[in-house]
Amino acid sequence: MKIAKHFASIFLLCMWLCTGASCAQKAVETVETRGVYGNPKPLWDKGYDLKELGVNAIFVHSGSINADMMKRAKSEGMKIYAEFATLNGKGYVEENPEAWAINEKGEKVEAATWFMGVCPTEPGFRQYRFGQLRDLLLEFDLDGVWMDYVHWHAQFEDPEPILPETCFCNHCLDGFSTETKLEIPEGTTAEKAEWILKHHDESWRDWRCKVIYDWTFEMKKIIKEVKPNALLGLYHCPWNDEEFDGARRRILGLDYELLRKTIDVFSPMVYHGRMERDPDWVQENILWFGNQLNITKGAYPKVWPIVQAHNSPGTISSEEFEDVLWGGLAGSSSGVMMFTTSSVAEDEGKIAVMKKVYTELMKGR
Ligand SMILES: [Zn+2]
Repeated sequence: MKIAKHFASIFLLCMWLCTGASCAQKAVETVETRGVYGNPKPLWDKGYDLKELGVNAIFVHSGSINADMMKRAKSEGMKIYAEFATLNGKGYVEENPEAWAINEKGEKVEAATWFMGVCPTEPGFRQYRFGQLRDLLLEFDLDGVWMDYVHWHAQFEDPEPILPETCFCNHCLDGFSTETKLEIPEGTTAEKAEWILKHHDESWRDWRCKVIYDWTFEMKKIIKEVKPNALLGLYHCPWNDEEFDGARRRILGLDYELLRKTIDVFSPMVYHGRMERDPDWVQENILWFGNQLNITKGAYPKVWPIVQAHNSPGTISSEEFEDVLWGGLAGSSSGVMMFTTSSVAEDEGKIAVMKKVYTELMKGR
């Protein structure tokens, strides 16, 4: 009886604390980003004000940003982040074949379904992309830039990923040889690739991760020069260390221990429908990620996942969308957004879910 009374007092104390301002304030402080990914126009066209929906940040492809959008989004209190497509080569490699990624047979790679990567060490391409970033930062008053397609040529968004061995072009072979001080024996490209993969696989994987990290390093440097307060975010493959035989690091070249030095905010692309996973996987993955990187709320790097609202392939119900939104806020996540704004705008049920979740976050959970 006495014990029961004691528990009742604790329970009442908790109730009092959690209905008080401190709890609400804490939740607001810890979940700082209630985002949407995509041009906000579909929501505006339907007469919505983003702020009234609980949204406080938009993530928009850099090519879709214009002065009118900036003005209206700022007037509704939004933070504005530009998605910056980084290592996709479609439209570039056709015109500049020297930047075409080369496989272990010494051949130009084929597109990986809808994605065509580029050789990340080709100097002309590097100059081109870095110039684009500079121009973007000078033109618009952005709160940050989210790098997208930051990996070696591959396709990780499909249920059956495409994971080729690249890139064995002369720039990459020279770069690897210089960095590791390994002299690659004379021969065809295919023979050189075979020698590397057979005798120096580990050094090769390490070097490839450094090349990807170097992209984030250079991007951060440009941001620090042009717009020092802007954040550097990363949309990335969400696989853990084991999936597909460690392909996130082995093939894509994503090494979190390197990337955490430059990336302010990680946005794992936890597209459960597209990758044919259960909605629960989103929460599991975000908990894993937070633990793996030892993420602490209120400190950098932060985690703001992107979850799937989009109906293709299959249909994502409103209930499922709510599950993955909460899943994206699991553990040490301090924000969330969904793919895409238009997928939410076209479905009243999803608009209602987003408004409910985001409003709850504003009030405190
Ligand atoms: Zn190359």
